[in-house]
Amino acid sequence: MYLFKRKDELERHLTTARNEGKHIGFVPTMGALHRGHISLINAAKENSDLVVCSIFVNPTQFNDPKDFEKYPVTIDQDVQMLTEAGCDVLFLPSVQEMYPDGLTAKMHYDFGTLETILEGAARPGHFQGVGQVVHQLLNLVQPDKLFMGQKDLQQCLVINRLLKIIHSQVELVICPTIRENDGLAMSSRNLRLNPAERVNALHLYQGLSYIKHHFKKDSLKDLKEKAVKDLKDSGFEVDYVELISILEDGSVIFPENAGTTPLYAVVAAREISSGVRLIDNMQL
Ligand code: AMP
Repeated sequence: MYLFKRKDELERHLTTARNEGKHIGFVPTMGALHRGHISLINAAKENSDLVVCSIFVNPTQFNDPKDFEKYPVTIDQDVQMLTEAGCDVLFLPSVQEMYPDGLTAKMHYDFGTLETILEGAARPGHFQGVGQVVHQLLNLVQPDKLFMGQKDLQQCLVINRLLKIIHSQVELVICPTIRENDGLAMSSRNLRLNPAERVNALHLYQGLSYIKHHFKKDSLKDLKEKAVKDLKDSGFEVDYVELISILEDGSVIFPENAGTTPLYAVVAAREISSGVRLIDNMQL
Protein backbone atom coordinates (compact mmCIF):
# COMPACT_ATOMS: atom_id res chain seq x y z
CA MET A 1 0.00 0.00 0.00
CA TYR A 2 1.25 3.48 -0.86
CA LEU A 3 1.02 6.05 1.92
CA PHE A 4 0.94 9.74 1.00
CA LYS A 5 0.86 12.63 3.43
CA ARG A 6 1.02 15.35 0.80
CA LYS A 7 -1.66 16.35 -1.67
CA ASP A 8 0.77 16.79 -4.59
CA GLU A 9 2.21 13.28 -4.10
CA LEU A 10 -1.27 11.78 -3.99
CA GLU A 11 -2.40 13.69 -7.07
CA ARG A 12 0.67 12.63 -9.06
CA HIS A 13 0.13 8.96 -8.21
CA LEU A 14 -3.57 9.06 -9.03
CA THR A 15 -3.08 10.95 -12.30
CA THR A 16 -0.83 8.11 -13.49
CA ALA A 17 -3.39 5.50 -12.41
CA ARG A 18 -6.23 7.37 -14.13
CA ASN A 19 -4.17 7.67 -17.33
CA GLU A 20 -3.78 3.88 -17.21
CA GLY A 21 -7.58 3.69 -17.30
CA LYS A 22 -8.02 2.65 -13.68
CA HIS A 23 -11.37 3.31 -12.01
CA ILE A 24 -10.87 4.76 -8.56
CA GLY A 25 -12.94 3.88 -5.49
CA PHE A 26 -12.63 6.21 -2.51
CA VAL A 27 -13.31 5.61 1.20
CA PRO A 28 -12.94 8.72 3.39
CA THR A 29 -12.55 8.00 7.13
CA MET A 30 -11.38 9.53 10.37
CA GLY A 31 -9.35 6.45 11.31
CA ALA A 32 -9.55 4.24 14.42
CA LEU A 33 -10.63 1.71 11.84
CA HIS A 34 -12.92 -1.25 12.55
CA ARG A 35 -14.71 -3.89 10.48
CA GLY A 36 -17.31 -1.31 9.40
CA HIS A 37 -14.64 0.72 7.65
CA ILE A 38 -13.07 -2.42 6.18
CA SER A 39 -16.45 -3.42 4.72
CA LEU A 40 -16.31 -0.16 2.73
CA ILE A 41 -12.77 -0.99 1.55
CA ASN A 42 -14.01 -4.44 0.48
CA ALA A 43 -16.97 -2.92 -1.40
CA ALA A 44 -14.59 -0.46 -3.07
CA LYS A 45 -12.24 -3.30 -4.06
CA GLU A 46 -15.09 -5.21 -5.64
CA ASN A 47 -16.26 -2.20 -7.61
CA SER A 48 -13.07 -0.40 -8.66
CA ASP A 49 -9.53 -1.01 -9.95
CA LEU A 50 -7.77 1.09 -7.34
CA VAL A 51 -8.90 1.82 -3.79
CA VAL A 52 -7.97 5.02 -1.97
CA CYS A 53 -8.69 5.45 1.73
CA SER A 54 -8.15 8.71 3.57
CA ILE A 55 -7.66 9.07 7.31
CA PHE A 56 -8.18 12.60 8.51
CA VAL A 57 -9.76 13.68 11.79
CA ASN A 58 -11.36 16.79 10.36
CA PRO A 59 -11.43 19.60 12.92
CA THR A 60 -14.06 21.64 11.08
CA GLN A 61 -16.77 19.00 11.54
CA PHE A 62 -16.45 18.81 15.34
CA ASN A 63 -18.85 21.20 17.01
CA ASP A 64 -17.62 19.95 20.41
CA PRO A 65 -13.85 20.60 20.90
CA LYS A 66 -13.67 17.90 23.61
CA ASP A 67 -15.01 15.31 21.17
CA PHE A 68 -12.25 16.34 18.72
CA GLU A 69 -9.50 16.13 21.36
CA LYS A 70 -10.67 12.72 22.55
CA TYR A 71 -11.22 11.23 19.09
CA PRO A 72 -9.29 7.90 19.09
CA VAL A 73 -6.14 7.65 16.98
CA THR A 74 -4.78 4.16 16.21
CA ILE A 75 -2.74 4.82 13.10
CA ASP A 76 -0.33 1.85 13.21
CA GLN A 77 -3.21 -0.59 13.59
CA ASP A 78 -5.14 1.25 10.85
CA VAL A 79 -2.23 0.89 8.40
CA GLN A 80 -2.04 -2.82 9.18
CA MET A 81 -5.78 -3.33 8.70
CA LEU A 82 -5.79 -1.44 5.39
CA THR A 83 -2.76 -3.38 4.13
CA GLU A 84 -4.39 -6.69 5.04
CA ALA A 85 -7.62 -5.58 3.33
CA GLY A 86 -5.70 -4.86 0.11
CA CYS A 87 -6.22 -1.10 0.07
CA ASP A 88 -3.98 0.45 -2.61
CA VAL A 89 -3.43 3.98 -1.34
CA LEU A 90 -3.74 5.65 2.06
CA PHE A 91 -3.90 9.44 2.19
CA LEU A 92 -2.92 10.66 5.65
CA PRO A 93 -2.71 14.45 5.58
CA SER A 94 -2.05 16.84 8.48
CA VAL A 95 -4.46 19.64 9.38
CA GLN A 96 -1.96 22.10 7.87
CA GLU A 97 -1.91 20.13 4.61
CA MET A 98 -5.71 20.16 4.34
CA TYR A 99 -6.27 23.69 5.63
CA PRO A 100 -3.13 25.73 4.81
CA ASP A 101 -5.15 28.97 4.99
CA GLY A 102 -6.79 28.18 8.34
CA LEU A 103 -10.04 26.54 9.33
CA THR A 104 -12.43 29.32 8.34
CA ALA A 105 -14.80 28.09 5.67
CA LYS A 106 -14.47 29.70 2.24
CA MET A 107 -17.75 28.32 1.03
CA HIS A 108 -21.23 27.74 2.41
CA TYR A 109 -23.19 24.76 1.10
CA ASP A 110 -26.97 24.87 0.92
CA PHE A 111 -27.94 21.50 2.39
CA GLY A 112 -31.48 22.75 3.03
CA THR A 113 -33.39 21.28 5.95
CA LEU A 114 -30.83 18.45 6.27
CA GLU A 115 -28.84 20.98 8.25
CA THR A 116 -31.61 21.93 10.65
CA ILE A 117 -32.98 18.49 11.61
CA LEU A 118 -31.60 15.55 13.64
CA GLU A 119 -27.76 15.61 13.46
CA GLY A 120 -27.93 19.06 11.86
CA ALA A 121 -29.89 20.45 14.81
CA ALA A 122 -27.83 18.61 17.44
CA ARG A 123 -24.44 19.50 15.91
CA PRO A 124 -24.54 23.05 14.49
CA GLY A 125 -21.98 23.53 11.71
CA HIS A 126 -21.14 19.81 11.56
CA PHE A 127 -22.37 19.22 8.02
CA GLN A 128 -20.68 22.37 6.68
CA GLY A 129 -17.41 20.90 8.01
CA VAL A 130 -18.19 17.53 6.43
CA GLY A 131 -18.99 19.28 3.13
CA GLN A 132 -15.79 21.30 3.29
CA VAL A 133 -13.52 18.28 3.77
CA VAL A 134 -15.31 15.85 1.44
CA HIS A 135 -15.42 18.48 -1.34
CA GLN A 136 -11.68 18.98 -1.01
CA LEU A 137 -10.97 15.24 -0.88
CA LEU A 138 -13.14 14.63 -3.96
CA ASN A 139 -11.23 17.31 -5.88
CA LEU A 140 -7.97 15.63 -4.92
CA VAL A 141 -8.87 11.98 -5.43
CA GLN A 142 -11.35 12.46 -8.32
CA PRO A 143 -12.83 9.01 -7.71
CA ASP A 144 -15.38 7.26 -9.89
CA LYS A 145 -17.16 5.92 -6.83
CA LEU A 146 -17.42 7.08 -3.26
CA PHE A 147 -18.20 4.52 -0.53
CA MET A 148 -19.95 5.55 2.68
CA GLY A 149 -21.77 3.79 5.50
CA GLN A 150 -25.49 3.78 6.23
CA LYS A 151 -24.46 4.06 9.88
CA ASP A 152 -24.19 7.80 9.14
CA LEU A 153 -27.43 7.98 7.19
CA GLN A 154 -27.91 11.73 7.28
CA GLN A 155 -24.27 12.22 6.25
CA CYS A 156 -25.00 10.08 3.17
CA LEU A 157 -27.94 12.36 2.33
CA VAL A 158 -25.78 15.45 2.81
CA ILE A 159 -23.05 14.04 0.54
CA ASN A 160 -25.65 13.08 -2.05
CA ARG A 161 -26.73 16.70 -1.97
CA LEU A 162 -23.11 17.93 -2.08
CA LEU A 163 -22.50 15.91 -5.25
CA LYS A 164 -25.46 17.68 -6.87
CA ILE A 165 -24.34 21.12 -5.63
CA ILE A 166 -20.85 20.68 -7.12
CA HIS A 167 -22.22 18.97 -10.28
CA SER A 168 -20.14 15.89 -9.59
CA GLN A 169 -20.48 12.68 -11.59
CA VAL A 170 -19.14 10.59 -8.69
CA GLU A 171 -21.40 7.66 -7.78
CA LEU A 172 -22.22 7.43 -4.08
CA VAL A 173 -22.39 3.81 -2.90
CA ILE A 174 -24.06 3.40 0.51
CA CYS A 175 -22.94 0.28 2.37
CA PRO A 176 -24.85 -1.46 5.20
CA THR A 177 -24.05 -0.90 8.87
CA ILE A 178 -21.69 -3.50 10.32
CA ARG A 179 -22.53 -4.49 13.89
CA GLU A 180 -20.84 -6.30 16.76
CA ASN A 181 -22.24 -9.78 17.49
CA ASP A 182 -24.68 -8.37 20.04
CA GLY A 183 -25.97 -5.72 17.61
CA LEU A 184 -24.04 -2.60 18.66
CA ALA A 185 -23.18 -0.59 15.55
CA MET A 186 -19.40 -0.51 15.12
CA SER A 187 -18.02 2.96 15.74
CA SER A 188 -14.60 4.42 16.47
CA ARG A 189 -16.16 6.11 19.50
CA ASN A 190 -16.94 2.68 21.03
CA LEU A 191 -13.22 2.56 21.90
CA ARG A 192 -13.91 5.22 24.52
CA LEU A 193 -16.39 2.99 26.41
CA ASN A 194 -15.34 0.88 29.39
CA PRO A 195 -16.82 -2.65 29.59
CA ALA A 196 -19.90 -1.54 31.60
CA GLU A 197 -20.54 1.43 29.30
CA ARG A 198 -20.03 -0.83 26.29
CA VAL A 199 -22.86 -3.08 27.60
CA ASN A 200 -25.03 -0.03 28.26
CA ALA A 201 -24.45 1.24 24.70
CA LEU A 202 -26.49 -1.71 23.46
CA HIS A 203 -29.67 0.16 24.48
CA LEU A 204 -29.55 2.11 21.21
CA TYR A 205 -29.73 -1.07 19.14
CA GLN A 206 -32.36 -2.57 21.45
CA GLY A 207 -34.53 0.54 21.12
CA LEU A 208 -34.30 0.48 17.32
CA SER A 209 -35.04 -3.26 17.24
CA TYR A 210 -38.10 -2.78 19.45
CA ILE A 211 -39.40 -0.09 17.07
CA LYS A 212 -38.72 -2.35 14.06
CA HIS A 213 -40.75 -5.17 15.56
CA HIS A 214 -43.66 -3.03 16.77
CA PHE A 215 -44.12 -0.24 14.23
CA LYS A 216 -46.99 -2.00 12.45
CA LYS A 217 -48.94 -2.38 15.70
CA ASP A 218 -48.14 0.63 17.89
CA SER A 219 -48.44 4.33 17.05
CA LEU A 220 -45.17 5.94 15.98
CA LYS A 221 -45.61 8.51 18.75
CA ASP A 222 -45.87 5.80 21.44
CA LEU A 223 -42.85 3.97 20.03
CA LYS A 224 -40.70 7.10 20.08
CA GLU A 225 -41.79 7.95 23.62
CA LYS A 226 -41.03 4.44 24.85
CA ALA A 227 -37.57 4.44 23.25
CA VAL A 228 -36.72 7.86 24.71
CA LYS A 229 -37.91 6.79 28.18
CA ASP A 230 -35.94 3.52 28.06
CA LEU A 231 -32.76 5.36 27.06
CA LYS A 232 -33.18 8.02 29.75
CA ASP A 233 -33.84 5.32 32.37
CA SER A 234 -30.61 3.57 31.28
CA GLY A 235 -28.37 6.60 31.77
CA PHE A 236 -28.54 8.38 28.41
CA GLU A 237 -29.11 11.98 27.47
CA VAL A 238 -31.25 11.69 24.35
CA ASP A 239 -30.75 14.07 21.42
CA TYR A 240 -33.48 12.40 19.38
CA VAL A 241 -35.35 9.24 18.56
CA GLU A 242 -37.29 9.74 15.33
CA LEU A 243 -39.02 7.83 12.60
CA ILE A 244 -38.22 9.31 9.22
CA SER A 245 -38.95 8.67 5.57
CA ILE A 246 -36.52 9.54 2.82
CA LEU A 247 -38.11 10.86 -0.34
CA GLU A 248 -36.74 10.24 -3.81
CA ASP A 249 -35.16 13.69 -3.97
CA GLY A 250 -33.16 12.83 -0.81
CA SER A 251 -35.21 15.00 1.52
CA VAL A 252 -36.42 13.74 4.90
CA ILE A 253 -39.96 13.83 6.26
CA PHE A 254 -41.36 12.86 9.65
CA PRO A 255 -44.46 10.76 8.93
CA GLU A 256 -47.19 10.43 11.54
CA ASN A 257 -48.06 6.89 10.48
CA ALA A 258 -46.28 3.99 8.83
CA GLY A 259 -47.41 4.82 5.22
CA THR A 260 -45.62 3.44 2.16
CA THR A 261 -42.25 5.20 1.78
CA PRO A 262 -39.27 3.36 3.33
CA LEU A 263 -39.13 4.20 7.01
CA TYR A 264 -36.06 4.44 9.18
CA ALA A 265 -35.79 4.73 12.93
CA VAL A 266 -32.89 7.01 13.88
CA VAL A 267 -31.36 7.65 17.29
CA ALA A 268 -28.66 9.81 18.85
CA ALA A 269 -27.90 9.72 22.57
CA ARG A 270 -25.03 10.47 24.93
CA GLU A 271 -24.05 7.75 27.36
CA ILE A 272 -23.76 9.89 30.47
CA SER A 273 -21.11 7.98 32.42
CA SER A 274 -18.63 8.01 29.48
CA GLY A 275 -19.83 11.23 27.84
CA VAL A 276 -19.72 9.39 24.50
CA ARG A 277 -22.38 10.38 21.96
CA LEU A 278 -23.56 7.47 19.83
CA ILE A 279 -25.81 7.36 16.76
CA ASP A 280 -27.53 4.49 14.99
CA ASN A 281 -30.40 3.83 12.60
CA MET A 282 -32.41 0.94 11.23
CA GLN A 283 -34.60 0.52 8.19
CA LEU A 284 -38.03 -0.67 9.30
P1 AMP B 1 -15.78 7.70 10.24
O1 AMP B 1 -14.36 7.23 10.31
O2 AMP B 1 -16.57 7.48 11.47
O3 AMP B 1 -15.89 9.11 9.69
O4 AMP B 1 -16.47 6.78 9.15
C1 AMP B 1 -15.94 6.66 7.85
C2 AMP B 1 -16.95 5.94 7.00
O5 AMP B 1 -17.19 4.64 7.56
C3 AMP B 1 -18.31 6.64 6.93
O6 AMP B 1 -18.81 6.54 5.61
C4 AMP B 1 -19.13 5.85 7.91
O7 AMP B 1 -20.52 5.89 7.64
C5 AMP B 1 -18.57 4.45 7.72
N1 AMP B 1 -18.87 3.62 8.88
C6 AMP B 1 -18.64 3.93 10.19
N2 AMP B 1 -19.10 2.94 10.98
C7 AMP B 1 -19.62 1.99 10.17
C8 AMP B 1 -20.25 0.73 10.39
N3 AMP B 1 -20.44 0.24 11.60
N4 AMP B 1 -20.66 0.01 9.31
C9 AMP B 1 -20.48 0.50 8.05
N5 AMP B 1 -19.90 1.69 7.78
C10 AMP B 1 -19.47 2.43 8.81
